[in-house]
Amino acid sequence: MHRVTLIPGDGIGPSISEATTRIIDAAGVKIHWDTVEAGLSAIDKYRDPLPPNVIESIKANKVALKGPLTTPVGSGFRSVNVALRKEFDLYSNVRPARSFEGVPARYEGIDLVIVRENTEEFYAGIEHYIDPSRSAAETIGIVTRMGSERILRYAYEYARKHGRKKVTTVHKANILKYTGGLFLDVAHEVAKHYPDIVSNDKIVDNMAMQMVTNPHQFDVIVTTNLFGDILSDLASGLVGGLGLAPGANIGYEVALFEAVHGSAPDIAGKNLANPCALVLAGVMMLRHIGEESAADRIENAVSTVLKEGKYVTADLKPAAPVGTTEMTQAIINKLK
Ligand code: NAD
Repeated sequence: MHRVTLIPGDGIGPSISEATTRIIDAAGVKIHWDTVEAGLSAIDKYRDPLPPNVIESIKANKVALKGPLTTPVGSGFRSVNVALRKEFDLYSNVRPARSFEGVPARYEGIDLVIVRENTEEFYAGIEHYIDPSRSAAETIGIVTRMGSERILRYAYEYARKHGRKKVTTVHKANILKYTGGLFLDVAHEVAKHYPDIVSNDKIVDNMAMQMVTNPHQFDVIVTTNLFGDILSDLASGLVGGLGLAPGANIGYEVALFEAVHGSAPDIAGKNLANPCALVLAGVMMLRHIGEESAADRIENAVSTVLKEGKYVTADLKPAAPVGTTEMTQAIINKLK
């Protein structure tokens, strides 16, 4: 029996978390879900978006599945997602984007993985107004050699382990001469240790354009925090949208799995959310805990439901959609 921390999350989080745990249970994996609350629901109950019992649970279980958490824009509490990544030093954010047959998208046959540095640069939370009248604000982005080296090594090791051929480093070293420059220097140093893998690098603005016009040239993409966040949403847009994009936050001891998308307040509570992104994050989690065959079965069931296109949510088929619960049931039926 595995023990996994489950954070259902805000907005559409509880419904897609329920879908994911139902599917994993139906695949026969024995998991004790240690369910804890963070985000808005925790504020209501404990006046704290990240109560200590959440940290304790993750510390004990080492693996967590998390629904999306709302972070107020501008003022309000800091991001719980960022806090969790920092607390457990989840330095690597792995976000695959691949095409599924039957899903309407701009391209077919895309299969790329974004490896995003998850703890440094502009998400480190070093920011303030420079004076009480808020006439200017400052956010400091720190990039370290250690932080760059470990994420770049992670990307190359990931490429080797998963039989991938190419790693593209994305940066803005032409303008951000120091932070971008350091990341790129380290990329060149690390690349020398992986002669079996093709290495190249691209400036982020050009990268955004090339991902849209010629995405098949990319395999593993490694980049700093902010660029990785933006490019992974872009990547999901290439293959059918956020409803299909999973992610893993990996540290030395703890791994936390989640969808790339947020809490989608515009569709929350309406049985409209596509559960697949979190379900596919669940598949990544099952592989992480050694449940390969259940992971394969769930991934195949999701692929089949998407290919048949009969029981899919409105983001994929606006004309005749089904709800979250119906799509979940369709995936479970394919497991049988
Ligand atoms: P979002 O990802 O929640 O939604 C963007 C758009 O995609 C919306 O139109 C939404 O309806 C749609 N969408 C997202 N997931 C979907 C799904 N599973 N099925 C169908 N449609 C889906 O982004 P946002 O609206 O910018 O952010 C909302 C909140 O989520 C913010 O508070 C933000 O901070 C938070 N957020 C959290 C995480 C996380 O927990 N890791 C990630 C991103 C954003």
